[in-house]
Amino acid sequence: MSTPPLPREVLAQLPTGLLVDGQWRPSSTGATFAVEDPATTEVVTEVADASADDALAALDATSRAFEEWRAVAPRERAETLRAVFDRMTARAEELAAVVTAEGGKPLAEARAEVAYGAEYVRWYSEQAVRIDGLARRAPAGTNHQVVMHKPVGPAYAITPWNFPIAMATRKIAPALAAGCTMVVKPAQLTPLTTAFFAEIVREVLAERGLPAGVLAVVPSSSARRVSEPILADPRLRKLSFTGSTEVGRSLLKSAADGILRTSMELGGNAPFLVFEDADVEAAVQGALAAKMRNAGQTCVAANRFLVHSAVAEDFAAGLVAAFGKLVVGHGAAEGTSVGPLIEAAAVDKVEELVAAAVDRGASVRLGGERPDRRGYFYSPTVLTGVDREAPTVTEEIFGPVAPIVTFDTEAEAIELANGTEYGLVAYAFTRDVNRAFRLAEAIETGMLGINRGMVSDASAPFGGVKSSGLGREGGEAGLEEYLDSIYLAI
Ligand code: NAP
Repeated sequence: MSTPPLPREVLAQLPTGLLVDGQWRPSSTGATFAVEDPATTEVVTEVADASADDALAALDATSRAFEEWRAVAPRERAETLRAVFDRMTARAEELAAVVTAEGGKPLAEARAEVAYGAEYVRWYSEQAVRIDGLARRAPAGTNHQVVMHKPVGPAYAITPWNFPIAMATRKIAPALAAGCTMVVKPAQLTPLTTAFFAEIVREVLAERGLPAGVLAVVPSSSARRVSEPILADPRLRKLSFTGSTEVGRSLLKSAADGILRTSMELGGNAPFLVFEDADVEAAVQGALAAKMRNAGQTCVAANRFLVHSAVAEDFAAGLVAAFGKLVVGHGAAEGTSVGPLIEAAAVDKVEELVAAAVDRGASVRLGGERPDRRGYFYSPTVLTGVDREAPTVTEEIFGPVAPIVTFDTEAEAIELANGTEYGLVAYAFTRDVNRAFRLAEAIETGMLGINRGMVSDASAPFGGVKSSGLGREGGEAGLEEYLDSIYLAI
């Protein structure tokens, strides 16, 4: 099968340097690293590889720009973000092509991610002029209390590869709306989308005569090399991280030294509950949305299908039929509905997890193999009769595999749902509204989708509990993460 390349005109416009003080520049060491198309394993382009000195130069620029940017009127910050949203929207096709070229997801999903990522920019353009305070008489009646908000200061964002545009705008947009400046370190596997977006921000800032150093971008082949000097620098006031729980834990330790404000969007192990009163066809459609976006490589991917035994066979048959219609291929090829996994190690891990489930007695109802093609592919897979203790159930799969476990009572379903260190999102299909509210009380999760396989929305607070993270992104809460309050007793 032929491989649709990244359109030449998009490649020609793609910045491949480091963005420091409004200038794209090479690494101070001259080093570069390669970015690969996971569907073909071919190199898309080379990107500047930031050094520790480059990281500090980026922080210097954003620290200087902070003093100017915090003084820019909220209306001007709002209109700047709105101009970025308009330009992103106008260039959505090019952005989507870059997302697919480096991340592998089908173009339709890449377009949806660009639209979703742009929504954060629009939402925070609207919120920039709504940073409220509070004034009231103290309970003792002796004075008044006034609470005002200020930007926390220069911020550092570390983003993952699975949503290279949305995870970047979810941090950059609220930071800029609040009056903060930001250094961003994109994932090594997907630095190109962030660079394309940052170029849009750079152009808009330059056209409006605003400080060039508001946003810096430091792609690197070594996350530690750039992160350690930035995190150790007292000018940094905020760290926002999206990625694995393991790396989040170690970053929290580094952030403790500087007493940094932190936002942590970490791993998940989402339960997808189907009760005996569910609309099973709707549950199958919800499962497709919750499981198969980005070939299962999302933090909100349904990881465990917990299904009442009375409807388990109907649900499994529906899922096998729906997954069986999916077309695996290059994300830019016409008709593809499932792209590759991000790298070879990801395919190895999924293969091991499926083998471990089968060892513990699971049946492979669909898939369970690598398709015979170049690239990092794994077939959509449905497993039934999966042991509750199998690693397929207890670990984040990050691949197109749906393990089905059965339960008989609501209490058992809740116990299974909560039997994990994670608590990012859960999904439940039931026609009983009282049960929906009971689940919201009982399930340890930051988000719950009722009769829906998707919850993400720029205007809603996204985030988890337990080992899934700290803080929220999106909605009003996402802006508060970049604001300090000052209380005046008058
Ligand atoms: P990851 O390995 O933790 O990497 C995430 C980011 O952290 C990358 O930019 C990575 O850089 C960087 N990083 C790695 N080690 C670091 C270190 N020692 N110091 C500083 N930065 C470091 O996670 P991933 O594999 O990219 O992403 C998958 C994970 O992210 C999954 O667990 C998923 O659930 C989670 N996730 C969570 C959310 C959410 O909102 N809760 C959203 C998306 C993904 P390199 O690229 O150079 O390694």
